[in-house]
Amino acid sequence: MIQLENSVTHALLESAEKSVLFTARRPDIVMERGEGMYLWDTDGKSYLDFVGGWAVANLGHSPAVLQEALSRQASTLVHASPGYFNKPMIEFAGQLTGVSGMDKVFFASSGAEANESAIKLARKHGAVNLSGAYEIIALRNGFHGRTLATMSATGKPHWKELFAPKVDGFTHVPINDLDACFAAVTNNTCAIMLELIQGEGGVHAVDEAYLYGLRKMCDMYGMLLIFDEVQTGMGRTGKLFAYEHYGIKPDVLTLGKGIGGGFPLAAMLTLGKYDLFEPGDQGGTYSGQPLAMAAGSAVLQELLQRDLAGNAERQGSYLVKKLKELSGQYPITNVRGKGLLLAFDVPEGASTELSAICLREGLLINSPGPSTIRLVPPLIVTQQHIDDMLLILRRAFVQLQSF
Ligand SMILES: *Cc1c(COP(=O)(O)O)cnc(C)c1O
Repeated sequence: MIQLENSVTHALLESAEKSVLFTARRPDIVMERGEGMYLWDTDGKSYLDFVGGWAVANLGHSPAVLQEALSRQASTLVHASPGYFNKPMIEFAGQLTGVSGMDKVFFASSGAEANESAIKLARKHGAVNLSGAYEIIALRNGFHGRTLATMSATGKPHWKELFAPKVDGFTHVPINDLDACFAAVTNNTCAIMLELIQGEGGVHAVDEAYLYGLRKMCDMYGMLLIFDEVQTGMGRTGKLFAYEHYGIKPDVLTLGKGIGGGFPLAAMLTLGKYDLFEPGDQGGTYSGQPLAMAAGSAVLQELLQRDLAGNAERQGSYLVKKLKELSGQYPITNVRGKGLLLAFDVPEGASTELSAICLREGLLINSPGPSTIRLVPPLIVTQQHIDDMLLILRRAFVQLQSF
């Protein structure tokens, strides 16, 4: 019986093992369909999704507005060429600069590319305005992507020697230590780059006083302050951009993940005075690609119209309150985060097992480290979804404790 039910999945998994290059350990399921807060696998089993496509599916899975925008644009123009402007590109650029408080935007397809672009702009600024300065200060435990330069910017200790020789010119300092950052500044520094809440690093926020200090330091030395809001941007933390919580504006802002609602899209935004690239410096075949632009535009409109940042704030507070209540009963500690970028700690080594049990029980959660669980559900989540999620989580903790 079971063999028969799982035969399609079984064949797919065998085929995957044969032909998909191994890069990550994945569970023995195959996702087939998505709608709202749920994903379904090829066995027809449903999963309540608190991974949200890795903080991407802000409007939930396969939202109607995205379907409509994509099919409308696909029947008009799929791709023009990066050598020409196109209409959705200009429209979305206007919308995004309008809501972000920035002046100019460069579009890309992934967060790493947007950050790569920010790194290049910082070096261009160094070359043009700071007598050739090219060093960038970034934070330990930060995450900026998987290209060689963004891996160099990333502050994971075990990435230091990986794929050597990597891109030179990055210094890492501990988070929320202003003196350490000040001490790292040299004549050669052109920018400071950081996430306001470290996502992959386990959901750790920068302090307000620290960020204020970084802003002052950048102003003093003419360095660029770069906020990587690939994960925190587009409503995730309860405001459209996490920098609004601090009231401190960057010189360069990068966005990705939720910006396309699942369609590959990212952006690097900056101020008019840093519109410094010359022809040939930066580009990309899919920069400003019409389908991506239509997707971004539709997602942003829906986000604003339904005030999903506000919902992230409300539901996030509710979820934090409930998790703190549970911490009396279960080994949950250090509940943290803003809006719907949340995490908590479990006993060392238990996070992988806990997420595996949840998967079996029909709940998707993510463990970015051996003792950390991260929750980044779609921003459309309701109190009912959260209650359903907590019920499964409690069941999972009971099974975990029985080991
Ligand atoms: C995910 C992420 C990236 C990389 O984005 P990709 O689209 O995977 O290239 C960069 N910075 C932060 C903060 C991220 O969370």
